[in-house]
Amino acid sequence: MRRHWVILVAMSAAASVFDHRTSDRGDTANRADDARHVIVVVSDGMRWQEVFRGADSTILFSDQAGPAADADAARRKYWRPTATDRRAALMPFVWGTLVRQGQLRGNRDLDSRVQVANGLKFSYPGYNEMLTGRPDPRIDSNEHGPNPNVTIFERLNRRPGFTGSVAVFGTWDTFQDIFNVERSRLQVFTNGSKPHDNLVHRQVLPYVDRLAPRALFVGFAETDDWGHEGRYDRFLDAAHAVDGYLADLWAAVQSNPRYRDRTTLIFTADHGRGRLATDWRHHGVDVAGAEETFLITAGPGGSMRGEVRGTNNVLGDVALLTAAAVGLRYDRACAARADGLVRRLASALTRADCLSP
Ligand SMILES: [Zn+2]
Repeated sequence: MRRHWVILVAMSAAASVFDHRTSDRGDTANRADDARHVIVVVSDGMRWQEVFRGADSTILFSDQAGPAADADAARRKYWRPTATDRRAALMPFVWGTLVRQGQLRGNRDLDSRVQVANGLKFSYPGYNEMLTGRPDPRIDSNEHGPNPNVTIFERLNRRPGFTGSVAVFGTWDTFQDIFNVERSRLQVFTNGSKPHDNLVHRQVLPYVDRLAPRALFVGFAETDDWGHEGRYDRFLDAAHAVDGYLADLWAAVQSNPRYRDRTTLIFTADHGRGRLATDWRHHGVDVAGAEETFLITAGPGGSMRGEVRGTNNVLGDVALLTAAAVGLRYDRACAARADGLVRRLASALTRADCLSP
């Protein structure tokens, strides 16, 4: 842990120097810097149902909404008569701002589907699928260890213009394995095994302000944790907090000349949860509905805005969208072949990055 903090401080100092120099060089340097950026935010085990319908009455008015006083508070905060009002109460930034500046996929009430394809419906297989573009049946445990596959963030970090400007923040030590820090040399900042979303957020904001990384991953986890605890009140509070973190991040992006109008935000989850009051707490291979998730993108260039109807996506599309956001095409089939080689031949990494302009 200490080692990561030293790196963070060192990088921040470097950023101050860089900021000073660019401001001295003036407008010419600013205009020349039209590099595009991408920020991927994940709320672990967040359900599409709450994103698009708001609080679920069958759970909010059950005994899973917490002790009486907390349940009452949750109902006051999040219960409204219509789904439109409920979702706006739960995620005011998503439904006030992102809906006007981005695309929202995964509302099954509008026949828009985002599917987790790995069949296992828990975290490591989901993050691997999201970050490499495809499921890998060998990854069948959160204790799998270092990822044999190369994530899109590792691929970007190996490209000129990105190297050293790619960072991962997450409230779960397993991200060290998922992003394979030993091999990838990515900057991966984690905070232990218990989720502390607010702590992660407070680390991310100053980092973003000062360094404006080309590619950033932020992993929140309290939604999953409170889901397992069967505390729907706190699950909703965690989702509401993530909406606030997204708002803060977006405000930081729009107020930073290096980011404004050239940054794409992607928001998704690694898996869903059960559909019913009896199984919403759970996810996994036997839980129907836990393969259902959502995908929100916002940024420059998109012509289609708002909720999307009649679409089908898989979680692995996140890897393609991450590359596309910085102007690159990611070849999933190439990556599958290259990942096979990586295990035998480290130099294969640099020969086949599977990204093209
Ligand atoms: Zn879980």
